[in-house]
Formats: sequence, C-alpha cells, structure tokens
Amino acid sequence: MNNKNIQNPFQNGMAQLDKVTKIKNLNEEFVAKLRQPDRDIRISIPVKMDDGSLQIFEGYRVEYNNALGPYKGGIRYHKDTEINEVKALAFWMTLKCAVAGIPMGGGKGGITVDPKELSKNELERLSRGWVQKLAEVLGPKKDVPAPDVNTTGEVMAWMADEYAKITGDKTGATFTGKPLDKGGSAGRGRATGLGGFYVFDSLREQIGLPEKCKVVVQGFGNVGVNVAQSFIENGHKVIAISDSKGGVYNGDGLDIEKLIEHKKKNGSLSAFNGSKNLTNEELLETECDLLIPAAFENVINETNASKIKAKAILELANGPITPEADEILFKKSIPIVPDILANSGGVTVSYFEWEQNLKNEHWTEKEVFDKLLPIMNGAAQKTFKNAKEYSTDLRRGAFILALERISKKMGY
Ligand code: NAD
Repeated sequence: MNNKNIQNPFQNGMAQLDKVTKIKNLNEEFVAKLRQPDRDIRISIPVKMDDGSLQIFEGYRVEYNNALGPYKGGIRYHKDTEINEVKALAFWMTLKCAVAGIPMGGGKGGITVDPKELSKNELERLSRGWVQKLAEVLGPKKDVPAPDVNTTGEVMAWMADEYAKITGDKTGATFTGKPLDKGGSAGRGRATGLGGFYVFDSLREQIGLPEKCKVVVQGFGNVGVNVAQSFIENGHKVIAISDSKGGVYNGDGLDIEKLIEHKKKNGSLSAFNGSKNLTNEELLETECDLLIPAAFENVINETNASKIKAKAILELANGPITPEADEILFKKSIPIVPDILANSGGVTVSYFEWEQNLKNEHWTEKEVFDKLLPIMNGAAQKTFKNAKEYSTDLRRGAFILALERISKKMGY
C-alpha cells in the first residue's frame, strides 16, 4: 500500500509486539505462537432481502488465543471491515483481557456491511445468519461474542436467541452486551467510558495532568458519549467532541445532554448553541489537557501526529494511533494511555455479565461499578510500574503485563 495512512491494523499490532520484544526477554516460541490466531473463520451469509432478492454478505470470527479462558470479543458491522482488521482487534482483545486480569481469551468478529443500508428485518436475518454459520464454535466455555461498532444490545439479543434455538443453551452466557431484560448486566452500556475514566483518574497525577482537565473527545457513539459524561460528572470540561460528520467546540465546556438532544433533532452536531463547528482534523489538533480518540483505528498517524497539542492521550477506540505516530508522540513526551488498558472496562463488565448468567445472578449497577473500579486501578498501576521499570511508555508497560500473564499460562 502506497498511502501510509491506509494501514493494515494487524501489521500495526505486530509492530507493537516487535517493539516490546526489543526491551523484554520473551520466549521465541511463545512470540511465534502469538503472531497468528488459533483460527480465523470466514463465512458467507445469504440473506433474503425485503424485496425478495438474495444478497450474500461476508462474515468473520477470529479466535486468537484462549490461554486465559474462552475467546471473548465483539462483532463489528462496517462497510470497511475485513479480515486483517478483525485479526488485529482479536489480537488486542487477547492482550486486553490479560491486562484486566479476567479469565478470558481474545477473539473478534465482523460482517462487511453498512447496516444503515439494511432494514431492521434484514439486519435481524443477517445477524441470525452469522450465528447459524458459527454456532458450533461458539459457547459459554468456548467463544463469547459481544457488541462492537454498529452492533447493539438488540443485535446481541437476536444472536443469543438464535444460538438458544440451535443449541438449546438456556444460560444466555454465549453473548454479552444483551439488553437488561434479556439477561444483560447493569452498567454494561457505561462500562467502557466509565472504565476509561477510572484508568485516567488512577494515572492522572503520574502522567502530569491537572486536577481539572479540558478534554477533547473524537466519537459520539456508545464510548464517546459515555466517557464525555463520566468526565463531566467528575468536574472536568469536555471542550470539543465529534462524530463522523464533524464536531463542535466550546472552550467553557459543552453540555453533553443538550448536545445529545440537538443531534437527535438535527441529525448532526453542527450549529450547536454557543459552540463553534470543527472538522475532525481540527478537533484532533485542538489544544487541550487530554485527547480521547473514541471512534476508529489509525486516526492519529504520521501526517497529523506532530500537530497534536494535547498534553496526554487516552485511547478508547481500538488502535487509533499508528506505530509511526506513537514514536512521534513519544518524542514529544505526550503520554498515551493505551487502548488495551484504557478501554478494558467494557470487556470486564462483559465478563461480569457472563458470570451472572452462568450463576443465574443479577448484580446492581453499584455492585458492578464497585467491582470494576479496583480492577481498572490495579491494571493502571501495574502498567505504570512496568513502564517505569523498563523505562518505556505505557503501551509497552501494558503489553509486558499482558504477555507475562499469557506466557505463564501457556507454560513459557
Ligand atoms: P459506535 O458505533 O457506538 O460509535 C462510533 C462513533 O464514531 C460514532 O459517533 C461515529 O459517528 C463516530 N465516527 C465514525 N467515523 C468517525 C470519524 N472519522 N471521525 C470521528 N468520528 C467518527 O461505536 P463504539 O462502541 O462507541 O466504539 C468506538 C470505538 O471504541 C471502536 O474503536 C471500538 O472498537 C472501541 N471500543 C468499544 C467498546 C464498547 O464497549 N462499545 C469497548 C472497547 C472498545
């Protein structure tokens, strides 16, 4: 590929692994095993469309590594989703579960589709079709999918229902991120954003940020909105936020609840009362204490890394910073709290949901967040300790934490 901005995310993941092997002595056989998923499955999903025609969609499930427990990871619906992206996300899931210290391995799934082009019935048939093709490899003790970009609780409920019909499994524990009345966990919707806030709060002083921060968020979906709300609830200001069409800026802080209403009414964030419109490029280059990419991969790359004016970055999207940009930001002494730590709150509460389903228990939101907080704090502080011990950045610190846990379990 000539354009360096169009990067293969799996190669990015492997480049990150390579960097770690330079500073940490790891068994060669172990590293070789970690360079490939246990299996990657590609399926075709025929779907009867509403007009009676048949359309075939391409779907994926990558089961990367299950040393620590059943494969775990979301399912992404996107027009650009392809096998290398799913492999990368499955690799990062493997490390993420290990960083959080939960007994889950790493997997990821997807379908190449723009869900906005499908009716609700077509989307349901597509989602059930994905399960029909993969039911034999899924299961509470085998492989446990969850939502990701463009897959909602409703999609998980269709999938769990289809899986129950095929296998007779009544636990509901094969899919997490289900709606509350269909066996979902309290707090799952807020978990990734709130978990990101807990990680930030644990590391704030250590990475040199002030008590009250000015925060910029890219992404206005599940993660972007929830993390913005968590920061505001805790006295910080979100001065800019964007979705795929662009963003808005207000140096005194945005009112996110009003902005949600505004987007519902107008279909976009632009022209929000008292704020200035911004492009996504401008948003990333806005001066702030903390920048939170919460949308997609590779948004901070060689072309814009030198223009970043944030004092620190909290990665809530998966893979938002390319390895080249990582180097540039490292030289600029901008600390990056890496995705495999910062967004691990989501999978941690997914694991809680799995546990509740298997034990037939229902925890309150308070119980869920009380269990989440020490896990996020512990992972953040162990990552920081590693980064200090190896005189390196937090990404490598988190990789070391994960790799030590996985290699031990694999007998290396
Ligand atoms: P989502 O589909 O709810 O939201 C994605 C948001 O990104 C939307 O607001 C969309 O408009 C915006 N967007 C798309 N392209 C953009 C662009 N070029 N610039 C700016 N904004 C853009 O997805 P989500 O669940 O919020 O996931 C966001 C990221 O967080 C993904 O990388 C996902 O893998 C990661 N993540 C999500 C979870 C979770 O629990 N949902 C957990 C861990 C990691």
